[in-house]
Amino acid sequence: MILKFTQNFLLIFLCVSSVHAQDSYKRNDNADVQHYRFDLALNDDSNEISGQTYITVNFEKVTDTFAIDLTGKSEGFGMELLEVLENDEKASYSYKNNKVLIKPSTNGGQIRTYSLKYKGIPEKGLVIDATKYGQRSFFGDNWPNLARHWLACVDHPYDKASVEFNITAPEHYDVVATGKKIEESSIGNGFKLTRYNEPAPVATKVMTIGVTKFASRYLGSFGDIEVSAWVYPENRLEGFADFEEATKILEYFTTKIGPYSYAKLANMQAKTKWGGLENAGTISYKETSITGNKEIQGLMAHEIAHQWFGNSATENSWNHVWLSEGFATYFTILYLEEVHGNERRKKELAIDKEEIFEYYLENPSPIVDLTIKDPKKVLSRNTYQKGGWVLNMLRHKLGDEIFWKGIRSYYAAYQNSNVMSVDFQNEMEKVSGEDLQEFFDQWLYVKGYPELKWDWKYVKGKLTISVKQLQKHHTFKFLIEFGIVNGDKIRIEAVQVTEKTTKFEIELEDSPDKVEIDPEVWLLYQEK
Ligand SMILES: [Zn+2]
Repeated sequence: MILKFTQNFLLIFLCVSSVHAQDSYKRNDNADVQHYRFDLALNDDSNEISGQTYITVNFEKVTDTFAIDLTGKSEGFGMELLEVLENDEKASYSYKNNKVLIKPSTNGGQIRTYSLKYKGIPEKGLVIDATKYGQRSFFGDNWPNLARHWLACVDHPYDKASVEFNITAPEHYDVVATGKKIEESSIGNGFKLTRYNEPAPVATKVMTIGVTKFASRYLGSFGDIEVSAWVYPENRLEGFADFEEATKILEYFTTKIGPYSYAKLANMQAKTKWGGLENAGTISYKETSITGNKEIQGLMAHEIAHQWFGNSATENSWNHVWLSEGFATYFTILYLEEVHGNERRKKELAIDKEEIFEYYLENPSPIVDLTIKDPKKVLSRNTYQKGGWVLNMLRHKLGDEIFWKGIRSYYAAYQNSNVMSVDFQNEMEKVSGEDLQEFFDQWLYVKGYPELKWDWKYVKGKLTISVKQLQKHHTFKFLIEFGIVNGDKIRIEAVQVTEKTTKFEIELEDSPDKVEIDPEVWLLYQEK
């Protein structure tokens, strides 16, 4: 998603490094959710919803407890659990601390379907509020772990499942949700049933619904994926104009990365606390982002890039969220480079660099920061901007051809699946034949970046460039380019830095007019 950084992030001094460590969510052992069916009844008389969730689970082995998240009643909000069935029989369960703990009647190797009936007013997750035009609306806004406020589910991205929404709502609303629309029927008494089904596995963080009065339009398609816009009727023309580019973005990413994973690509004007939220196949864009002035090119590219990275290839642990946000950040830059040229890439990366420096002063922490336990705290300039920068440096290190080959191979291996940073590293190593351990270690698990003092001098046919790393905590190893400028000509020399202080000599006939450091913007460093 896109957000504004207004939070104060905690100072983090510890640096623990373990590539396989998981966040603190207690996972179900030997149980894998296969499918969710969410039946929801919405009305205009109150904000109380009635829900029935059907969860189909494969128990790989004998299992003591299968835990389902559902936020219980507290101070007027939350869900009252009415019934829990296992394959239509009363289930053995307890309900405490917002967890439904079921004792499965299986010795393993069996599939069970649980049905949980509940009702209540969701405090979060499902935003029931008036749009900016005063129209009543219901919008799913789950990221990172708010689905449990209105859906009974295993509310962590490690366990993805196909999903079906069966929504009963007053007939005057238009209903959109994750998946392909499979039914829209009037059921009497002024209500209608709308059903959506998504066969691809989806993480709860990116499941959504939108229920309000919408204007909707088919915008185009790429392959068999239809692209549409769902906007407030008052913003009909502005919204359709703003979202028009979505088809072109879908085409670019599909061609460059691999097949799109979901049933459709709907772009929805929504009440969301984010600038945009990458809900799988049904992206939410903040209601005020729609202007008709086509100012959301970068925002759309970011959220659409997430359909591959974050949604389809999903971080297995919240601490590796850069696989989602860093990728969405850099793939936005790649799209902008494709449309506007290389200067745009350089400009975007230069802006991101300044933000990384500013953030580092207050938060000297690495991208993969295992001290963070709360998923609400994993979003930062480290996981977005610095994560994006890591991909820029990797691209430069490997060259465009190998970089893209690696990206395609990584996506092919982990489409509709879960990943850790080491899985990405392994794929890039396989494709490039290079050992990238040091590269990933220093950029993902070490805080900061090279802080460089440098100069050059020319004496008798020899250009000497000296580079000194000033940061004390780590000696970075990196490739750096210098531009040797003579008139309007620039010659680029790339050199490898492995020490605190390094001197390079280049034979040159004439003294250069000037020497530039990293003229093509490939290295994350700060000049001191
Ligand atoms: Zn994002």
